[in-house]
Amino acid sequence: MQSPLDGSALPTVEATDPETVPALARKAREAQRAWAELGARDRASAIAPVKERLLARAEEIADLLRRECGKPFEEAALSEVLPNADLVDYWTTSIEELLEGTTVELDALAYPGKVGRIHKAPRGLVGLITPWNYPVAIPLRTLVPALLAGNAVLFKPSEITPRAGALVASLFEGLLPEGLLALVQGGADVGGAVIEAVDLVVFTGSVETGRRVAVRCAERLVPCSLELGGKDAAIVLADAPIERTARGLVWGAFTNAGQNCASIERAYVERPVADKLVARICELTKELRPGADTAVLTTARQASIVRRHLAEAEANGAEVLAGGAPEEGSLAFPPTVVKVSDEDTPLMREETFGPILPIVVVDGVEDAIARVNASRFGLTTSLWTKRFGRAHELARGLRTGVVTINNHGFTAALPAAPWSGTGESGYGVTNSVHALAELTRPQFVLEDRSGATRELWWYPYTPVLRTIALAMARARGGAGFFGRITAVFQLIGALPKRLLGG
Ligand code: NAD
Repeated sequence: MQSPLDGSALPTVEATDPETVPALARKAREAQRAWAELGARDRASAIAPVKERLLARAEEIADLLRRECGKPFEEAALSEVLPNADLVDYWTTSIEELLEGTTVELDALAYPGKVGRIHKAPRGLVGLITPWNYPVAIPLRTLVPALLAGNAVLFKPSEITPRAGALVASLFEGLLPEGLLALVQGGADVGGAVIEAVDLVVFTGSVETGRRVAVRCAERLVPCSLELGGKDAAIVLADAPIERTARGLVWGAFTNAGQNCASIERAYVERPVADKLVARICELTKELRPGADTAVLTTARQASIVRRHLAEAEANGAEVLAGGAPEEGSLAFPPTVVKVSDEDTPLMREETFGPILPIVVVDGVEDAIARVNASRFGLTTSLWTKRFGRAHELARGLRTGVVTINNHGFTAALPAAPWSGTGESGYGVTNSVHALAELTRPQFVLEDRSGATRELWWYPYTPVLRTIALAMARARGGAGFFGRITAVFQLIGALPKRLLGG
């Protein structure tokens, strides 16, 4: 494969033979048993060195991502290295507390001598299938908590970024029991083999593939977590701070050349501020330096989608205000700003995953919210305004998993903040205790120290038991005041009979 940056050759990576996946899964499962026994504190100590390894290899990682994906060096270091150091810190220092079991309070009269506890047990073997757009950060966000929770992992990175995938796996080398983390390389066939072998699938990728993964998981009756595409919007209110909003929208739309699930792919701007904001956005866009500030598109397939969306929008009346399509075959798609009036075009409906910022002028924020919510996607939305109270009210009306006020998209880098979507953006959760809930299963353990020879509800079913059951229903609210009093007397009479075997 060639680098999208300059066409230079990248080292070849052998694909894994899908037929070897079951053996890797068996080995991982064997290693998992002892790993789960180890306890959260020891697992955290084992994994903690990943942080230093990441930081020490920052330059190597950023350089690889520049060559393999076409990312600017600074962007790679800032989005794929530094937040992951925080990620390792967060999980290794909090996992023991987060995995602690909880006690379930049981009514002492109804359930004498009984105590219940909920344990968070590992799922077992997790299949992790990831995309190419953030090929270091995205796998680490699941690998770290999944392993810390006591799971083994079969990790299949994208076939477009297998070198970044190998680098991620190498960060754990020598720290884990052999076979606990197995790296498998390849495309759909290897991904399919992973799904067949695991107890939980954590998938990040396109809607199309996610749907296929979900169907197969449903057939196997194994759970899956899906983080899929987006058509994220920015809503700019008339009182928005112009300079910050313009800079925020330009970064939110063009970082990683828009190849970001949370990229701003639609901006709805209230009319009073539109001219000023659009003018500033265009100025800032034209200042971006190709290659230094902006990534190239990673694949030719992506470039053709972006090109098609722009061409169809233009044919539908969209006006290009900055940028525009490059020559046919080029991956260096310039950051492009377009003014759109007719939203019935793929650029406004489908995921573009490219550096195009379409702007729509609206007469009111309610109209903008209705348009945002009309999408079949629901990942993130940003609101830009100085009125925070109003923004919080509006946030409650948005059906996206994340809402940011005067910022956009970066919260995937916060390990304690849940990242999730609605609709076709999927229902998986990355980061936070909510992700941990997916990576574990609740196991309820009840102990009974009452020592009684039998329970009220055990055999035999007798007329006395029937009287008790109906009296309990009346006493607990199934009758009026006098009915309840009568029921209590019935219980006083019937319970001793039951205790004596009646
Ligand atoms: P993709 O769906 O083409 O591939 C994702 C992964 O699935 C790859 O590893 C691929 O090899 C594997 N795969 C493909 N077919 C498979 C099959 N039949 N069975 C099992 N695995 C299979 O996605 P992509 O092009 O790599 O990534 C881009 C997409 O990811 C975009 O839609 C983007 O929005 C989405 N994404 C979402 C998030 C999020 O957090 N919601 C984050 C990053 C990317």
